[in-house]
Amino acid sequence: MILSAVKKKILIVVMDGLGDRGCKELNGLTPLQATDTPNLDWFTRNGIAGTCDTVDIGIRPGSDTSHLSILGYDPLEVYTGRGPFEAAGIGLVGRPGDVAFRCNFSTCDGNHNIIDRRAGRIDKPDTTELIKSLNGMKIDGIEIIIKESTEHRAAMILRGPGLSPDVTDVDSHGEGPLNWSKGSTKEAEFTAGVVNKFVKETYDRLNDHPVNKRRSAEGLLPANIIVPRGAGSFPDIQPFPEKHCMKAACVAGVGMIKGICGICGLDVIDLPCDCTGGCSSNFVSKAKIAMETLKSYDFVLMNAKAPDVCGHDRDPMLKCGIIKRLDEMAGYFRENFRDDMVIVFTADHSTPCSLGDHSGDPVPIAVYTPGNVMDDAVTFSESGCSHGRIGRIRGKYIVPMCMDLADRAEKFGA
Ligand SMILES: [Zn+2]
Repeated sequence: MILSAVKKKILIVVMDGLGDRGCKELNGLTPLQATDTPNLDWFTRNGIAGTCDTVDIGIRPGSDTSHLSILGYDPLEVYTGRGPFEAAGIGLVGRPGDVAFRCNFSTCDGNHNIIDRRAGRIDKPDTTELIKSLNGMKIDGIEIIIKESTEHRAAMILRGPGLSPDVTDVDSHGEGPLNWSKGSTKEAEFTAGVVNKFVKETYDRLNDHPVNKRRSAEGLLPANIIVPRGAGSFPDIQPFPEKHCMKAACVAGVGMIKGICGICGLDVIDLPCDCTGGCSSNFVSKAKIAMETLKSYDFVLMNAKAPDVCGHDRDPMLKCGIIKRLDEMAGYFRENFRDDMVIVFTADHSTPCSLGDHSGDPVPIAVYTPGNVMDDAVTFSESGCSHGRIGRIRGKYIVPMCMDLADRAEKFGA
């Protein structure tokens, strides 16, 4: 009897915004090139390596579009705007037909002219209290579901027949009069009408709200209107477990990443840590959770947000420090490695410190599983990984490549 090969498990470790460009503070090196990373190098030396354009060559990805790619989807086909992904990130997972928006709590005068787009950077618990007075609203037969997010932000879902996401933002992105929403098709016109009625209704319900009276008495700006923007529909995508025949989960702190994974049908693992990802959280404890999760799942995606924040803050020294700690995390994976797994170390995009934002520079990728072909790459960096046999890959091919290494791919042909 011939025993078929054991199907391995797959763990993808996404180090958010890890890729960079040469920094003058580091004598022209990238933070990865300038930092000693013995554990990441071990995986690179013993595994296969390359560079990755997560979406495509020259495209500057958001964390949402790049994670869709890393999960094996083509964001150019399935991405429907930030609204639905942010909504899902705070627990509002809608269904096809729903339209989602990102919203701000703002301050306006009696004529709906915006005085402060962020209502003095209001935050919980005031926003939680204010949202309660908006729950259960129905306008022209459309159900409105709204939830507060971090600071002045909220997300909203419209649910009902005949909606369209092709409506303009009410948010004028500045002070002064609102841009009342418009749409050019029948459905979009109807949707814009619902949105505009909703905005006026929020003013009527919030202006005299006790929380706002208290804020005004304390000299704080009242949050007396909700202003939506970024309409998008929930993508009708094939769930990841069905598409790839793998039970899948994600270990992430950032709301948007959790939202993407949730929309793609991955189980979102609750983290005990209250860190939402912006802080330099304890990578090793996250790695432990990922390894624990892998015991009952076939596929786990883990996201570590901190390097991206250093790039946005234009701080290469801090990024080097974070990389050092990411390497300790890789050390944990090395010590606790199980032979029945395929591990991937990569990034969702580059966030060069010199740019302070995402760029289209390809990111390093190293993949290791016992018995893989060892290639010529020996160090984990933008340049070091380019010596490997993966070459230059697109993000959406990472999962298929790993499925083959994990002996999960099916034979094509006889
Ligand atoms: Zn970023």
